[in-house]
Amino acid sequence: MTATPAATADPRVAPEIVSSVFYGAAVSNSLALLVAEMVDDVPRISWGNEGAMHLLGYALEDLRELPVAHLLPSLRGAELRLLLRRERTARMNLPIRTASGVFTECVVLCTPTPTGRMWNLRVVSADNEQERALRATADAHERRFATLTERSPVPTLLSEQGMRLAHVNDAFCSLVGLQSEQLLGTGWMACIHPDDLDHVIEQVAVVLGGGDGEAHARLLQDDGSERRTVIRFAHLFTPGVGAGFVGTIEDITERLAFEARLAHQANHDPLTGLPNRTLLAGHVAERFVRGQTGLACLFLDLDDFKVVNDSLGHAAGDGLLVEVANRLRAVVRPGDLVARFGGDEFVVVCEDVDEDDAVTLAERIGTVLAEPVRLGGVDVRPHASVGVTVQADEHGCAEDLIRDCDIAMYQAKNGGRGRITVLDQQARAEARDKLRLVADLRDAIERRDITLLYQPIFGTADGLSTAVESLARWEHAERGPISPVMFVPLAEESGLIGPLGALVLDETCRQLVEWDRLLGRDGPCRANVNVSALQLDDNLRDLVFEALERHRLHPSRLSIEITESALMKDPAAARAVLQQLRDLGVELAIDDFGTGYSSLAYLRHLPVDCLKVDRSFVAELAEGHTEITAAVIALAGSLGLSTVAEGVETAELADQLARMGATYLQGFGLAQPMSGARAAAWFALRATEPRP
Ligand SMILES: [Mg+2]
Repeated sequence: MTATPAATADPRVAPEIVSSVFYGAAVSNSLALLVAEMVDDVPRISWGNEGAMHLLGYALEDLRELPVAHLLPSLRGAELRLLLRRERTARMNLPIRTASGVFTECVVLCTPTPTGRMWNLRVVSADNEQERALRATADAHERRFATLTERSPVPTLLSEQGMRLAHVNDAFCSLVGLQSEQLLGTGWMACIHPDDLDHVIEQVAVVLGGGDGEAHARLLQDDGSERRTVIRFAHLFTPGVGAGFVGTIEDITERLAFEARLAHQANHDPLTGLPNRTLLAGHVAERFVRGQTGLACLFLDLDDFKVVNDSLGHAAGDGLLVEVANRLRAVVRPGDLVARFGGDEFVVVCEDVDEDDAVTLAERIGTVLAEPVRLGGVDVRPHASVGVTVQADEHGCAEDLIRDCDIAMYQAKNGGRGRITVLDQQARAEARDKLRLVADLRDAIERRDITLLYQPIFGTADGLSTAVESLARWEHAERGPISPVMFVPLAEESGLIGPLGALVLDETCRQLVEWDRLLGRDGPCRANVNVSALQLDDNLRDLVFEALERHRLHPSRLSIEITESALMKDPAAARAVLQQLRDLGVELAIDDFGTGYSSLAYLRHLPVDCLKVDRSFVAELAEGHTEITAAVIALAGSLGLSTVAEGVETAELADQLARMGATYLQGFGLAQPMSGARAAAWFALRATEPRP
């Protein structure tokens, strides 16, 4: 009897037939059958037929509960498990110990029941020598094959001919949770996901024709779950049998899950779980069709978020962001996207809306957000400034739309807390103009199109000019000259002040070296360089040091001018930076002195060399008001500092300032700012003139 477990389990076989077959097997004398099962983790015989009792010499009562190992003493531990497999039928040539203790050589064919709890052992006596030799060879072959493939961790299928499987290894059985008997023949196809089966069959057909093939396929497990796999097929030809294949399976379920997690992390904010800026840009770009309308962006920025962070701590700040994210998710329509743009900024994207709809949604968001949140024992009512933009004809691409709602948000913010602003044409035009100018400025800095002019500074004692102040100028290709009063704040706002400051410093140093080469001792011995308030940080010292090193200049060749108002923004930090510069050996001047309301007590502790009297006070001299200029000069004198009077327009003013005790003078009335080349000529000419 070679009935497979699948056949005995077939419900279509009438019970009478089953019992008839069982009866035939039970009383058969020529066929020895045993049933084994696990009892307390030990495989034991639970039943034997007439043939088994006859062959082994046991009565049925003696066979029951007999350990399988007792019958098959040549198998130890793991070897016994090789016979009693749950995945497949195993066949071995073994000596069996009979009741009398005599061994008889047998072939044992062991088939697991579908539940995997019992085994059906068929025992055939191998008393014929020739037959035994043949079986031994076949067994050796089988064991080699088993070693190579069946116990390999790589799930493997093998067909000797066509689509029908002849072998399947344990790893594949475990992967799909079925026994080999259920998979052999065409049984394996049932574990391929129906949607992937056609592709797998196509690949097998290619392989049977002589090629190699590969298929991505989902495999169904017995518990209904799926594994995502790659099946690689190789052609296999067996002489006398035909064309078949070997298929090895790579389970990529975990790898794909890991990749999916990575992709999710790349596109989502870890704190709130919301899509991030990258995903937002892609989402809007996918939906943006030029010339259409209905796509809207709402840009939200929380008001006073910094106050929460500073007063209640970052954990409370994070808690607020998570709560806001949850409320936004809950308030938008299904299908709307909520993204975290960065910091305390969020963007909502909706489709098929007009401006009224978008504003209504913004109002609804405002209402929902304003509900109090309990943070660190305090009730906080979040408010947001919201910029609204609905796609219009002017929007050439998705980025335009996002940028416009960003601009609208800034307008809302400027209007006060909790506002909603729809961007108007005028503001859009102004904002775009400014953006273009920033882009042009960035280009100009990169191309070193910012030129420097140099204005001589004169000593009152001898009338000689030994120093210059370098002044940045920008000549825009289309708009003409743009005043530093405009482009310096623009650089400060747009993060370009760093590169601009570095350019000015480097170019001034380069020019000093060139003057040295052209003029020797007749050139200016010092250049004053202006530094923005935003450059007053720990990097400034290194920036100055590196510029000096690069051009091999002594630190005394530079004076750094810092406005009084810049120093007053954060006096303690400014003082530390000044001290670093002083330690480096450069001179320090306070620019526009008198306009910044600095405390005089504080001034005493600043490591500076010079005060530059603001031009507005110098201008007052002409009107007869000498008080402030006189006071600044006197103050500088008592602190041991020199003074530069700026904005000296006339020779009379120059004389008056000299009489008042100013150390240096600078102004249009004495010398205009000029290019490096003209300054070289100017200094050369001065050197030939008799001293005043
Ligand atoms: Mg200055």
